[in-house]
Amino acid sequence: MSRTVLLIEDNPQNRYLATFLLEQSGFTVRSAGDGPQGIELAKSVVPDIILLDIQLPTMDGYAVARLLRGIEDLKRTPIVAVSSYAMVGDEDRALAAGCNAYIEKPIDPETFVAAIARLCAAEQSPQDRP
Ligand code: MN
Repeated sequence: MSRTVLLIEDNPQNRYLATFLLEQSGFTVRSAGDGPQGIELAKSVVPDIILLDIQLPTMDGYAVARLLRGIEDLKRTPIVAVSSYAMVGDEDRALAAGCNAYIEKPIDPETFVAAIARLCAAEQSPQDRP
């Protein structure tokens, strides 16, 4: 069964590239351009993994991550922060907000999909899913 990725990203070009790479590898991709839309979509889709841009309009990725972690169905869903902030402490902030991993933008097409697949697999180990 195809794994579903929820992509929360406001930049259309970044959305296009990530969607292209993931779909080419067999993932199903749903996407939202801001936090509130992303949270609504996450509740209805219950994706296997969430890719979360940190720099978003109206509500930043840290706030989105905290809200996602408060939703029962999404407590264990891997959330990957994706950020172009080259700031010290950004990764720590993302992890503190409930993200499981951090990827720097621009994403590397050579390694991006493998990293996402690995994070999905880690969550779907047999002992975790009765
Ligand atoms: Mn952005």
